[in-house]
Amino acid sequence: MDVMSIDDAAGRVATAGPPPAHGGVIPPDLATCADCLRELFDPANRRHRYPFITCAACGPRATIIESLPYERARTSMRGFEPCPACAAEYDDPADRRFHAETIACASCGPRLRWGSMTGEAALRAATDFIAAGAVVVVKGLGGFHLVCDAIDEAAVTRLREVKARDGKPLAIMVRAPVVAGALADLSDDDRALLTAPSAPIVLAPRRHGVLASGVCHGMPDVAVLLPYTPVHHLLLDALRRPLVVTGASPDGSPTPTGEISGLAVDGVLTHDRPIVARYDDSVIRSFGRGSITIRRGRGLAPAPLPLPAAAPPLVAVGAELNSTFTLADGERAVLGPHLGDLPAAATLAAYEQALDHLVHLNGIEPLHAAHDLHPGYLSTRLARRLPSRIAVQHHHAHVAAVAAEHRLEPPFLGVAYDGPGLGDDGTWWGGELLLASYRGYRRLGRFSRAPLPGAEAAARHPVLDGDVIAREAGCPATSSATRLFDAAAALLGLCEVNGFPGEAATRLEQAAGAFPGTEPLAWRLERRGGLWVYDGAATLRHLLEARADGEPAGRIAAAFHATVAAVTVLLCERAATEHDVTQVCLSGEVFENRLLATDVLDRLSAAGFEPYLGRQVPLNDAGLSYGQAAVAAARLARA
Ligand SMILES: [Zn+2]
Ligand SMILES: [Zn+2]
Ligand SMILES: [Zn+2]
Repeated sequence: MDVMSIDDAAGRVATAGPPPAHGGVIPPDLATCADCLRELFDPANRRHRYPFITCAACGPRATIIESLPYERARTSMRGFEPCPACAAEYDDPADRRFHAETIACASCGPRLRWGSMTGEAALRAATDFIAAGAVVVVKGLGGFHLVCDAIDEAAVTRLREVKARDGKPLAIMVRAPVVAGALADLSDDDRALLTAPSAPIVLAPRRHGVLASGVCHGMPDVAVLLPYTPVHHLLLDALRRPLVVTGASPDGSPTPTGEISGLAVDGVLTHDRPIVARYDDSVIRSFGRGSITIRRGRGLAPAPLPLPAAAPPLVAVGAELNSTFTLADGERAVLGPHLGDLPAAATLAAYEQALDHLVHLNGIEPLHAAHDLHPGYLSTRLARRLPSRIAVQHHHAHVAAVAAEHRLEPPFLGVAYDGPGLGDDGTWWGGELLLASYRGYRRLGRFSRAPLPGAEAAARHPVLDGDVIAREAGCPATSSATRLFDAAAALLGLCEVNGFPGEAATRLEQAAGAFPGTEPLAWRLERRGGLWVYDGAATLRHLLEARADGEPAGRIAAAFHATVAAVTVLLCERAATEHDVTQVCLSGEVFENRLLATDVLDRLSAAGFEPYLGRQVPLNDAGLSYGQAAVAAARLARA
């Protein structure tokens, strides 16, 4: 296995430079602006209640662009010939629709359809159905959504059946920030995120209120967003209640963009403007120290990101679940939209389609492919189509993604708390301390190993050495931090089995929230094979003792979080005494945990470190391809 040595000089940190002449920047979609919204509901305006009102400052972009440069003739608006009134506005430098490529009105632009009905009649039919408890499909910007009344328990239950979604919270669209504030505990940051032109889904602590219990299934956060198209505004204005608005596909599968068939729904509110590129709604979580991006989709992708070195044209293919790809050329990286889990039948096709589209749009014809070390990933197989390949260790890629986003000069410490990923020694990693540059890394520490199936086996044998259990159970062991969190949640009776990825960790965080400032549990940090190893078994043993003593599960969960935070700082301090390094990149899906991320950031800052967390690029595997691209760019720059 080729593990690069640490090279402090490697990787100049560059800004996202100008695009190559044959490419161009693809603008992300923009939520309906305040001016258009005013006109939409102004009876005197000629676009009163026109469901596709846009201007030069808002409307679809990335989802309708067929080729660059961005102009109407190269978008899916090309089939709509502007009427004389629209054409006059387009040509008038004083008009706010001067050169607005998506300009349209009721007489020349796209039209709503519901069965055989069009326009207002179609809209009214859809609102009547939703008001009566129906589950309907609504064509959006980057895909089709399932929509129903979020207060109607039966409708929400039916929608979950159609979507085949178990416990994961459903996104709720509300008319205005004030309504969102009634459903969720919103910070000022949350409000700013909600009303941004990218109009993402914001995850915020749930308030007890009117929503059907099936929306959140007892999970601590509610996923809220504001209307971002005129169609959404018209629906919500008529219905005056929160709506479930979620991708019309099973979890892990790509949101459909073509005409819908085969779904057990009561109707489809569609329109005749084709969706060129699939973009799911973006998902963001804020927590007092800024926000993190859980899913980088509509409104955010495919805005360019910086690279640590000028890259030859390359594609980084990502991981297996939460797959994305990144195209890179020169000093620009384009992280493509979130596509879902590659093993899901439809995802691979969507992945290849999206890749072809962005290759074509950006004019980047990849010569090299960066991929995960795991030879069996479908993404790795895709990479084999290119003769020049760069294998990147999973957690090094996570760490590099954080460093590249923040334009850090190496070296940096990388703390990767994540699901299992293949290590360079053939074992499964995931609770890692790395000393890293963009080109390479050295493993300095890790979590002790637990059996890969995780929670159940660990819950039965929490105090045994993980390697022993794994051997007895006949399954591989992993140092993955997610397994430790799963085990803690199971032992506290908070979540035996993950109903969806991350459920146990979320429930653990929820339980801990009520006990701030709790002291850590016991832990052991020891030298094994030249590495600092955090032995999670000692912590789990103490956790069980505390439980037997009748401590509340929430207080123990808080103590568990404090333990991991304290151990993290200790690991970094051990590394800092041996290596002169103060920058710390926190990466991996475990840091989506608000409580842990905040605590670790605070403790590291107090200890004199400069901690960084992935902000624009997901900490989960949806951000992995960007990290792979950063590593490949640095390695190829010297090759
Ligand atoms: Zn506008
Ligand atoms: Zn017109
Ligand atoms: Zn990962």
